[in-house]
Amino acid sequence: MSDVRDLIIIGSGPAGYTAAIYAARAQLKPLVIEGAVDAGGALMTTTEVENFPGFPEGIQGPDLMDAMRAQAEKFGAEFITEDVIDVELTGDVKVVKDSADDTHHARAVILATGSGYRRLGLADEDRLAGHGVSWCATCDGFFFRDKPIAVVGGGDSAVEEATFLSRFGSSVLMIHRRDQLRASRIMIDRAMADPKIHFAWNSEVAGINGDGKVESVTLKDTRTGHLRDVAVEGLFIAIGHNPRSDLFRGQVELDEGGYVRVARDSTATNLDGVFACGDVVDHTYRQAITAAGTGCSAALDAERWLAARGA
Ligand code: NAP
Repeated sequence: MSDVRDLIIIGSGPAGYTAAIYAARAQLKPLVIEGAVDAGGALMTTTEVENFPGFPEGIQGPDLMDAMRAQAEKFGAEFITEDVIDVELTGDVKVVKDSADDTHHARAVILATGSGYRRLGLADEDRLAGHGVSWCATCDGFFFRDKPIAVVGGGDSAVEEATFLSRFGSSVLMIHRRDQLRASRIMIDRAMADPKIHFAWNSEVAGINGDGKVESVTLKDTRTGHLRDVAVEGLFIAIGHNPRSDLFRGQVELDEGGYVRVARDSTATNLDGVFACGDVVDHTYRQAITAAGTGCSAALDAERWLAARGA
């Protein structure tokens, strides 16, 4: 096969683009299949990023992604703004098919497809995303100083977000669909002891209201169906994440949560020549900077793997 390139990177965002910068500088001419709708990853839907090192004045998420992409392009990375719809990763030559029906071949592949925040599925969730609706307390909590905030969910993420947000907000209402949290005891105790945190048990969010920004949420009692409005300016949704790994299932080893399994202190998957980085492997941190860090590691691992095979 004459058109077998060294490296394909599936996915973009800080992991995919950082992998592309390193691989391109290593003369691997990587092809980045960056996604049709989600190109640039989760940061494309955020506003100001204040905690990415090197930007003391903050930077808009899309600007940061555009800059990373341009940096990779400068060193020779190629981009296709399509989704990957099929992969064959088990052979010596990996086969990747995109949504334009083009098929690409490479010796090595980096998986950087990220994860998606679970959504409530309300129309107003999209309308008010970035205008009071958020999935990331560490990113956006600061904007709700002295404002009433609500957090949806009953797991460790929701409790952690509520505890974090209580240092900013005037109050934090935890909205949970049952009457028991699933979070760990120590986290629950910490939240229960926090005078700013209150609970709306057996409640689901039936509506998010506001003209241009969140002004209130409509809560539905899951036992009685009773509806009530609660004034909040920030609504943080913390009902779990789904790693975007479905495409690789059955080929690449996944853990029980659906995250790609990588070898310890490495980005290597169970398949020779297949590496993974960013949120599709990360249970824990899910930050732009940690994704960029593992993107760098994946490119170095792929480069060394290729070099050992004389590429
Ligand atoms: P999770 O444990 O799956 O909890 C998701 C929560 O959201 C559950 O309480 C669930 O309700 C609720 N939920 C799910 N779908 C919903 C919907 N459509 N509407 C309303 N509520 C919904 O997810 P997570 O909290 O993100 O945690 C994921 C993993 O990371 C866990 O293993 C967790 O322990 C770990 N984690 C650990 C820490 C830490 O230790 N510091 C921090 C964060 C996460 P139900 O309870 O009714 O199912």
